[in-house]
Amino acid sequence: MISYNEAIEIIKTEIRKLTFQTEEVNLLNSLNCILAEDVIADVDLPPFDNSAMDGYAVKYSERKKWNIIGEVSAGNYSSIKLLENDAVLITTGSKLPTSADTVIPIEDVDVEGKQFLLKPDAAFKKGINIRAKGNDIQKRKTAVDRMTKINPQVAAVLASCGKEKVKVNCKLKMAVLGTGDELIPIAQKPTEDKLRASNNYSLYAAIAEINHLPINLGFVKDDKKIVRQNIKAALEMDIDMLITTGGVSVGKYDFLKELFKEAGVKEKFWRVNIKPGKPIYFGVYEKEKKRTLVFGLPGNPVSCLVNFYVFIKPAIDYLYQQNKINILTALLDDDIKKKDNKRHFSRGYIYEENGEWKVKAKFSQSSGNLVEMSRANCLIVIDEEKINPVKGEKVKCILI
Ligand code: AMP
Ligand code: MG
Repeated sequence: MISYNEAIEIIKTEIRKLTFQTEEVNLLNSLNCILAEDVIADVDLPPFDNSAMDGYAVKYSERKKWNIIGEVSAGNYSSIKLLENDAVLITTGSKLPTSADTVIPIEDVDVEGKQFLLKPDAAFKKGINIRAKGNDIQKRKTAVDRMTKINPQVAAVLASCGKEKVKVNCKLKMAVLGTGDELIPIAQKPTEDKLRASNNYSLYAAIAEINHLPINLGFVKDDKKIVRQNIKAALEMDIDMLITTGGVSVGKYDFLKELFKEAGVKEKFWRVNIKPGKPIYFGVYEKEKKRTLVFGLPGNPVSCLVNFYVFIKPAIDYLYQQNKINILTALLDDDIKKKDNKRHFSRGYIYEENGEWKVKAKFSQSSGNLVEMSRANCLIVIDEEKINPVKGEKVKCILI
């Protein structure tokens, strides 16, 4: 059985062979997309020298008293020529009259009719409160780098550069197929030994959450013929990843591995030294230029979601060069029992107290306990060689 680190390296090696497709999208629809082009500033930002404050624009001199000869407001520039003792009322963001070089904030003056006096304690220096043209970025310089994830602040820069449409990497198409005789649609009430097929929904949400395209293939019975047909049909689809759940362990009806092989999927690994989620299968299907990564996740609802968080999500972040900060170091609030040499991903609840991250670990670690998992906000990583970590120890926590 391979280790977690070995497994993630194998997935990374395969995922980087996927070909990048790009598309143009409206800036308004680009949130969380990864930019596929460098965006160059087509103008200086800001485009003109302007005032950083509501105040008075003056030509700097050591005087204390000025005459107010007019005003400019944002978007209503007027080319007032200032003489030595002239001042112009100016609002934040307004273009500076060409002869002005300094803005005195409104709070720093006492106005008397058409004149004002500088307050004695005002900090007054040449050039203050001016935002110079091009100070944010100069025309023809790169404003946003390729592979940047578009968030609200990036969207603001793209908008300021006039990018109504942006070239982004296409979302990965990821199909989800459940397997199991025990499964029923969630609209039905379980009787006897049946249960609702929740994995399709958790994985669908997990894929949507990272801004890729989930395709729900539903679920099928543990019937070799039916599963075979469905795997073949899925591999014929235009998808980047096929994620199945169930049937990948060592039970009598766990024949997914065998059917993947039959369908032409090349196995890269099966079973990883982790808990939960040990039975994970990973393979690659290639046909002509098409490449599909195949993940066979265990049916256990907690295991399959943990597998998604610790294998699939980080591999996609790696593919799109996203160095996300989603791991925090926290102090354990509770002892954790861990006797084996597997890497554990235990459910935990991370919180801040007096400037420190702490993590509660009193969660049921049963891989069937979905409700417990839904109340957790992180996975506590306990390395292979670590035995029984105790309260107060530092642990890595993957935010989920
Ligand atoms: P398996 O990996 O096929 O042995 O499945 C292990 C257990 O996971 C099953 O006995 C079910 O209790 C549960 N399970 C399997 N598939 C699903 C699913 N799609 N949704 C929810 N639970 C599932
Ligand atoms: Mg099963």
